[in-house]
Amino acid sequence: MSLDDHAEDLASDLGVDKEEVKADLENLVEYSVPVDEAKESLRRKYGGGGGGGGSSTPSVDSIAEIDTETGSVNLTARVLTVGTREISIDGEDQVIREGDLADDSGIIEYTAWEDFGLEAGDTITVGNAGIREFRGNAQVNLGSSTTVTFEEEALEVPYEIGPERSLTDLQVGDAGRTVEVLVEEVETRTIDGRDGETTIKSGVFGDESGRLPFTDWGNRDELEAGAAIRAENVHVREFRGVPEVSLSERATVETVDREIEVGEEVTRRSIREAVATGGIYDVEVVGNVVDVRDGSGLIERCPECGRVIQNGQCRSHGEVEGEDDLRVRAILDDGTDTVTIVLGPDRTEEIYGGGLEKAREAARDAMDQTVVGEQIAQEIVGREYRVRGHLSVDDYGATLDASEFEESDDEPASRAADLLAEVGQ
Ligand SMILES: [Zn+2]
Repeated sequence: MSLDDHAEDLASDLGVDKEEVKADLENLVEYSVPVDEAKESLRRKYGGGGGGGGSSTPSVDSIAEIDTETGSVNLTARVLTVGTREISIDGEDQVIREGDLADDSGIIEYTAWEDFGLEAGDTITVGNAGIREFRGNAQVNLGSSTTVTFEEEALEVPYEIGPERSLTDLQVGDAGRTVEVLVEEVETRTIDGRDGETTIKSGVFGDESGRLPFTDWGNRDELEAGAAIRAENVHVREFRGVPEVSLSERATVETVDREIEVGEEVTRRSIREAVATGGIYDVEVVGNVVDVRDGSGLIERCPECGRVIQNGQCRSHGEVEGEDDLRVRAILDDGTDTVTIVLGPDRTEEIYGGGLEKAREAARDAMDQTVVGEQIAQEIVGREYRVRGHLSVDDYGATLDASEFEESDDEPASRAADLLAEVGQ
């Protein structure tokens, strides 16, 4: 049964307008509400009052006035972006369009369930568009009961029209964006997808503004290390706590003939601010190392899975011949919050002043391998460092996987001033 049939069914049962019911159904189904449950809740909505119909459509004067409580609207706005995406509703594939609408008061996301022929730059007046809540924000829903009129005169808006964006301007939830990037790293993997085994690519894109990880669900040939590409109709999702560029089947990729110089600028944040974002791909924080955790220094890893092991026992692989490695897990505190920083073998060697050989020798002499971690702690605890890397947040707290770890040469006074400015004093 298609969504249309379900709507027909429901409309005749309840004696209400089919298009209105269908718009509501679309809304619920897009939220992943199963169709039967969606129909039940609409029966409750329309049931009692005997027919509803003629729901009021207030004319809001501006996008800024729309909130999640707004029922439906009539509105004139500029189409900033149009992305297409295929979704599955009740087993049927359907193409939807989504992007941003703007007027001079603000921007709002929209989803169009029909092909109204929208293009970036169009000025449109929509009638009877639904408002729904999505990720806590109001979003305009253009369904089968919505009218769209194209205006001759362009509405001036103080926002960029078109899909081109820098990597660092992308936000989780963005859709229909275009990026021109250098493929800095790429690997091909096989995963168990919805339709059996699928080969995908993942890696890192860079542009003048910075870097972001990506996943290409189409395993495209153009995505090879060192290639400069233009990717259209990409969207941005959250993966392992950081934003990621996602290339679905609808995305198109072509190589471009231009040098892309990857920007090395990084945003510095307080630890509290960084943790509050829920994850950042590239960030810098400055703070004091207040502790070095157990399991730092000379450690052993399982040769199968790379997990740190104790007494030759891996949690997944049982008794194994461990491989020596060096790492540091330390707590960094900047007065706003703390984060666990993780340093790989290279950074650890720099701090320790030697590699595996020196560490093994020290452990042998002391007949205790924890001496390596202790020596590292003496070196770094109590000192202030500038740390750069990816920050992720999970149930166990925030972790910063450090690519740079340097003793800070900031003036403590200027940093104190920054901190006070941030807390608003
Ligand atoms: Zn293992």
